Formats: sequence, structure tokens, C-alpha cells
Amino acid sequence: MSKPSTEPCIICVAITGSLPTKENNPAVPISIDEQVESCQQSFEAGATIAHCHVRNDDQSPTSDPDRFMRLKENLERHCPDMIIQFSTGGRSGAGRERGGMLPLRPHMASLSVGSCNFPTRVYENSPELVDWLAEEMRGYGVRPEVEAFDLGHVYQAATMVEDGRLPSNIHIQFVMGVKNAMPVDREAFEFFVRTRERLLPGATWCAAGIGAGQVVVNEWCIREGGHVRTGLEDNVRLDRTTLAPSNAALVERATGLCERFDRPVATAAEARSILKLKRRQTG
Ligand code: MG
Repeated sequence: MSKPSTEPCIICVAITGSLPTKENNPAVPISIDEQVESCQQSFEAGATIAHCHVRNDDQSPTSDPDRFMRLKENLERHCPDMIIQFSTGGRSGAGRERGGMLPLRPHMASLSVGSCNFPTRVYENSPELVDWLAEEMRGYGVRPEVEAFDLGHVYQAATMVEDGRLPSNIHIQFVMGVKNAMPVDREAFEFFVRTRERLLPGATWCAAGIGAGQVVVNEWCIREGGHVRTGLEDNVRLDRTTLAPSNAALVERATGLCERFDRPVATAAEARSILKLKRRQTG
């Protein structure tokens, strides 16, 4: 739909999420050590953003700031160039618990700006909570990645940029393929791309596809000049029958697509430059 892009493509790896377990795929990293190792391997394969959730030892999702702190400290030690993005998603806590790790000042954090249905529940993001999370991110210098689960969320992000609740240089991700929410639909994707360009010209963008939609949406993003998200959070399979052996294998699949469509893969320095992230020592 648009001219081919030659801008370096930033690959984000969503390593763990809050749903997949070892029973779904033994490669899902749960312990901090496993998460750090998976990030390192993914970084070496070409990923430069790690989207991170944390789990308790029994695999249940948690928003425990101490666990996030341990993960961040270990990533900074062992994988210092990786851009760290924490999830403030709703499966790991309720209300403001979800933003309890923002004082740790990760480079980025995910932010849902509206509600929708998820496979078995309502994904609730009240206006009060959305505004509070956005304010916390502003206060701690954390770059929001807006996760748009619906086209309405794209408009809401634009409204929040316009009235100053969000910075103009947000990263925005269109999430497709969550059961009961937005399906993987090409027309909706194209509408998202056009609307982002029209209403959020200062924003960088990517999209995520769930399950078998992951590789489909990866290709759409690469061809239309967006950035890419992959990883076991969204999809535990390489194809319909084969479990992915690692997050790095899914990253390698994305870099293969970049090569096929002549998009260079962004280095860590290029990713920071495209996202206009400052390098900083955090604490
Ligand atoms: Mg997530």
C-alpha cells in the first residue's frame, strides 16, 4: 500500500507474557535466569527491545516490583544494550498495582488506553487508571508503548497526545488476533497504518499478531515500514505443528523476513535513535 521502506526495523521480543506456561512450551522463560538468557540469545539474534512480564516460581503472573527489579538489574548486567520494556498489562495485577514497577524507570512500558474483551475476561482499563499510568510514565521518564487492541484505542492515543497526557513520540502497537478483540484483518491493519500517519505523525509504530497470525503480521509490518514484535508471549509455535525452540528462533524468523523484504534489522544504537531514547544509567 505504500512505498517500500528501507528504514531499519526494530525487533521487539515478548519473551514470557502472562499466559504461556512450560506445559504449553518448555522454552517459555519463567525464572529470572531463564528470562535473562532468553533476552541475551534474542539480542544476539537481532532483537533490541525486550517486552517483559514477570512470573512467580509457580508460573503465575505477578506485578511484584521486587521481581521486576531483579530482572532489570540482571538484564543491565548481562544484556546491557537491550531496551527494556515492562508490561503494565492487566493479567498480572489489579488497578495501580500494574504500575508499581514504573519507579524502576525501565526505558519503556506498555500502556493500554482502553478496555476490550479478552478470551475469558474483560480487559479493564478505566479512564482513571489509564491517566494515572500515563502520568507515572511521564514522571519517571518512561516511554509509553501504547497497545491498541481496537481501532478506538488509536483515536484515544491521539487524543491523549493532543491534550498532553502522552508525549508525541509514543511507540504505538496494534494488537491483532486476541480472541474476542481485534482479529488479524488486512483492512483494519491498513486503516491503523493510515490513521497512525494522519493523527500520530510523531509516533513510531509496530503491530503484533497472536498465534498463527504472528508471522502474518510480522510480514505486513516489515513491508509497510513498521517495526516488529515477536516472541513466545504471543505465540509458542514456529508453524502450525512445531513448537518454537526458543524466543531467539522466533527473532531469527523475523530477521529472515526483513532480509527477504530488504529491511535492515536495527542495531541497538539505531533502535535508540529511531525511538529517540536517551542512553541512561537508571536506578
Ligand atoms: Mg505483554
